[in-house]
Amino acid sequence: MGTKYIFVTGGVVSSLGKGIISASIGKLLQARGYKVTIQKFDPYINIDPGTLNPYEHGECYVTEDGMETDLDLGHYERFTGIRTTRHNSITTGRIYKTVIDRERRGDYLGKTIQVVPHITDEIMRRMLREDVQDEELDFVITEVGGTIGDIESAPFMEAIRQLRWELGRDAVSVHLTYVPYLKAADELKTKPTQHSVKELQGLGIQPDILVLRTERHLDDHIRMKVASFCNVDLECVVQSEDMPSIYEVPVNMQRQGLDAAILRKIGIPVGETPSMKSWNNFLEKQHHASKELHIGLVGKYDLQDAYKSIRESLNLAGIYNDVKAKIHFVNSEDITPTNVAEKLAGMAGVIICPGFGQRGIEGKVVAAQYTRTHDIPTFGICLGMQMMVIEFARNVLGYEDANSAEMNPETPHNVIDMMEEQKNITQMGGTMRLGAYDCALVEGSRAWEAYRPSLLIKERHRHRYEFNNAYKSEYEAAGMKSVGLNPDADLVEIVEVPSLKWYIGTQFHPEYASTVLHPHPLFMSFVKACI
Ligand code: GLN
Repeated sequence: MGTKYIFVTGGVVSSLGKGIISASIGKLLQARGYKVTIQKFDPYINIDPGTLNPYEHGECYVTEDGMETDLDLGHYERFTGIRTTRHNSITTGRIYKTVIDRERRGDYLGKTIQVVPHITDEIMRRMLREDVQDEELDFVITEVGGTIGDIESAPFMEAIRQLRWELGRDAVSVHLTYVPYLKAADELKTKPTQHSVKELQGLGIQPDILVLRTERHLDDHIRMKVASFCNVDLECVVQSEDMPSIYEVPVNMQRQGLDAAILRKIGIPVGETPSMKSWNNFLEKQHHASKELHIGLVGKYDLQDAYKSIRESLNLAGIYNDVKAKIHFVNSEDITPTNVAEKLAGMAGVIICPGFGQRGIEGKVVAAQYTRTHDIPTFGICLGMQMMVIEFARNVLGYEDANSAEMNPETPHNVIDMMEEQKNITQMGGTMRLGAYDCALVEGSRAWEAYRPSLLIKERHRHRYEFNNAYKSEYEAAGMKSVGLNPDADLVEIVEVPSLKWYIGTQFHPEYASTVLHPHPLFMSFVKACI
């Protein structure tokens, strides 16, 4: 049928959940048997979010092919199970870099390079995924970050306008807005939506479908009003009420016919509504998982989005184990040997989070010592694993000054050291060990039990430092085993202390690979141990 294109934009305010709506559309079309991908265009000038502080941008999500991306790609993968790539996350910075590199090569043959048409042409090329080989897709869903009216997003809107004109019925525009409830007037207000649509129309884009985010149910009268003021069919005005869980959104959208409206706009016969059986089974399980399991999240970013994929991985693994994961953020900067017992009191298990730099690491070491000596299930991820290793060196191997070369390049006991291939790198952006690498598991280990029967797995990485193999035999002898190794470079990817209930650290980030229908085996095993 040829590829169809869906553009998702947002208006009124940010944080409306465009990523969740885009992921839901992807899921619903997939359930109808279509081959789909979802991509995100972000209007900032950074090449990727890899160098951004999580407080700026939330978690940095990593694709299998090693691109550092926006956290919405995590939603796309968790909802659809699709593996995204570097082609699915584009920024203004990357667009400009491509154009400027081309200009320096002389490819433009003396022309003046301008936002229109050169930047917009490059945006369109990427929206159409012209540089992706061997890809046969029925739908490409393109989400544009930011809010209508932003100066930054203007070239993206212009690209969408042109593409819609060129593609005709093969393109659909979905616009997400907000309908606020004014308590004093006891009224839901559609004016911001009308303004937002006007703004979009001013850019030459008539939305085909409106998704109205709302905290209260919108009756038909309000939907009719929006439809007639915004030139949109009534059946194309869909409401997205607050849901107890983001995973309810796809079925809620399906109930209101969002996917059917998209198909109708394109001119594809709608046919029967797919049953979404496994998804609904999951929701059923979620509904029944009421017993709480308290998990401590030891990290330094007190922000929901900073550890998004870890949180979702715990939620999902919890649901599949019939419990509701109650995640307690514990700021590692506040943890001391005297208060650690109190800080972690009541936790069935502890996650020691990834991170960079000195701030907050001593608290992570103290937490790792406490959970190791009290046999509390502990899962260290990336920097978290490195802190488990350092703690073990200081308190079991007797190297009081053990550290990571990242924190103290002069330390005599650099149990975590910079990887050889990293030593001559001076650029910060995109130069870490990134993306999926093989890991061979040691049969019989607890980590292997989780992944069983696989002996060779692939997980995603994002780090510069690693376990120093010069200390490996000392660790082994003292009871911390290396149970996952990269077969090509002999890097230690997983450590565990088998004498404890569950004390595992991974140099990789398993959280990126959890999906709704396939919770991650390590998180499953960790949650089971916590229960
Ligand atoms: N800062 C550590 C390193 O670069 C860990 C990184 C992380 O936790 N993602 O190796």
